[in-house]
Amino acid sequence: MIWNKIESSPRETIEQLQLSRLKDTVQRVYALTPFYRHKFEQTGIKPEDIASLKDIKKLPFTTKKDLRAHYPFGLFTVPMSEVVRIHSSSGTTGKPTVVGYTRSDMEVWDEVMARVFTMAGTTAEDIVHNGYGYGLFTGGLGMHNGAQKVGATIVPASSGFTERQLMLMKDFGATILAVTPSFALHMAEVAKKAGPDYLKDYKLKAGIFGAEPTSKGLKEEVSKAWGIDYHEVYGLSEIIGPGVACSCKKSDLLHVFEDHFFVEIIDPATGEEVPEGQRGELVITPLTKQALPLLRYRTGDITSITKEPCRCGRTMLRMESIVGRTDDMLIIGGVNVYPSQIEHVISNAYGVTLNYQIIADKKGYLDKLEIHIEVSDEIVCDNVAQMENIKKSIQAALLSNLYINATVRLVEPRSIERSMGKAVRIIDKRKSDE
Ligand SMILES: [Zn+2]
Repeated sequence: MIWNKIESSPRETIEQLQLSRLKDTVQRVYALTPFYRHKFEQTGIKPEDIASLKDIKKLPFTTKKDLRAHYPFGLFTVPMSEVVRIHSSSGTTGKPTVVGYTRSDMEVWDEVMARVFTMAGTTAEDIVHNGYGYGLFTGGLGMHNGAQKVGATIVPASSGFTERQLMLMKDFGATILAVTPSFALHMAEVAKKAGPDYLKDYKLKAGIFGAEPTSKGLKEEVSKAWGIDYHEVYGLSEIIGPGVACSCKKSDLLHVFEDHFFVEIIDPATGEEVPEGQRGELVITPLTKQALPLLRYRTGDITSITKEPCRCGRTMLRMESIVGRTDDMLIIGGVNVYPSQIEHVISNAYGVTLNYQIIADKKGYLDKLEIHIEVSDEIVCDNVAQMENIKKSIQAALLSNLYINATVRLVEPRSIERSMGKAVRIIDKRKSDE
């Protein structure tokens, strides 16, 4: 099932549409945003210089810092009378990043989210359990509107209250689950208390997961724990919220809704484009945004893209799951490591769960990496020989796969602190010592 025929149109058609929309966006920001006009004047660029999609390289980047510097509404290009919704990032460090939507922006958001739900096989017959937080965070309402657009029955459960959520899922017969992957796993842990045949109480067939970086292992675990198809949704509030890209039934890679979002992959150090298939920082230019159009927004997310055709029939290019963040990349003894790569190694190991914590520290001048991992329930912690074997095999796998020397500490099940929303996996003590 494909929601909109543009998703499977010839690439030339999509690219023509992108170019005309890019030109409109550039004209718009040049005319209406002093911040961009100033940048254009500084570098001697005129909107007319954008004649092909490749010319996008001439345009300046936009960063989160730029949004913060214009807090709260400084980069909006419409009067507040035309803004119908405000969302913002959590703003754990300083002021939040504020975004606005016009009526037309809301329609685009509903449209791309309807595509997401359709990819997961959602129709008017389905009951969608939405466990994403409602509020300033875009997750809850973004999911809500998309499910509504396809005509499904939506249960706006919001986040938290695990036992209650499970009860509602059972009693209402939810068929589609929309939550963060870590919360889905937490829900499964609680549901399993009902006994080994706990799945008989639920009717779930697919899930739409996002809002945090996820390894292949974690996806498989969520998919297995709930007996469902795993669909990954990607997005960020600065661009629109969830709904920039989503994985279909035929591939783990995420189709980007290119008629609304132009994507580039750059080397985060040089800003230069990297060849197709190579990993780098994802840069997005929304092509139809009215309230807050941004040029070449640097997401800080590391991924790669491919234009190879997909078996589902969609022609829109695909990106891989986010591998990490430019700012949470750990440098251990000169080696670049993303936490998701460590998670991948853990997911392939015997006797352990995906509840872990990575602790980076210094010993003298040397970087030291310690990884605490909860063993699975069937492992007897008193069996010293077995524990030693598990530990050694993980350390060896980390060394051979990632070239890092780490100390693994196995801990008892459920002894690492759980977080309901986004999991805090990394503690970098080197940063706080500076
Ligand atoms: Zn596909």
